[in-house]
Amino acid sequence: MSLKKQLINEQGIRTDGRGIDDLRPIKITLGYLAHANGSVLYEQGKNKILAAVFGPSEVHPKHAELPDRAILRVRYRMAPFSTEERKSPAPTRREIELSMVIRNALESVVLTELFPRTAIDIFIEVLQADAGTRVAGVTAAALALADAGIPMKGITAGCAVGKVDGKIVCDLNDIEDKEGEADMPIVYIPTLGKISLLQMDGLMTQEEFKQALSKAINSAMKVYQLQVNALKTKYIKVER
Ligand code: UDP
Repeated sequence: MSLKKQLINEQGIRTDGRGIDDLRPIKITLGYLAHANGSVLYEQGKNKILAAVFGPSEVHPKHAELPDRAILRVRYRMAPFSTEERKSPAPTRREIELSMVIRNALESVVLTELFPRTAIDIFIEVLQADAGTRVAGVTAAALALADAGIPMKGITAGCAVGKVDGKIVCDLNDIEDKEGEADMPIVYIPTLGKISLLQMDGLMTQEEFKQALSKAINSAMKVYQLQVNALKTKYIKVER
């Protein structure tokens, strides 16, 4: 019989030293790539995610263009060296599905109707993964879109919450994601007060779900504040 590993100690401290509501340290480096219209290196704990935006540009093949708006094309990939066990370089079903899930989350904010018959390409490359990469990917994509000057109704800010050792905790790391009781990634759009992605694996009671949702929105607001600060630092120059 294998004993379940304790992930939160009696003092409420998690395996990486955080309290139950703490996020991992976040670092945002805007304009990380020279050849993209917008880009960012987004680090959240051990997660290292590169997002690059190209466009709006002409659509190839032509028949894929839409007369009234731009198409968003999202590619989420994990590098073969991003995980503890090397991942096959071939795209997995998970990566293809997550590309679609992320595109749906972004479509609710990008003002695609301003750029008919064009394509906006968003690449999300996970260089190092430690759980929560889909929401970190959406967070990074919003930053890269803003860096590319693409108009949006708001910025998507993501964070996962979950249930670990019976407690609702914020921003799960890999071991908490794998060994915890539930994992719930969400993406929130503070300017609209709306959620554009919500998924859940595992079991929670209705009460726990309510608590998780409220903690997820609080966490996303912390992420949003950091996104805004990074954009202001790069784009708002103080006149002297
Ligand atoms: N993971 C992995 N290999 C894979 C897919 C995922 O090691 O092929 C790890 C990685 O750390 C990832 C975590 O499992 O961040 C959780 O994956 P999940 O599918 O829940 O997506 P995420 O939480 O990253 O959005």
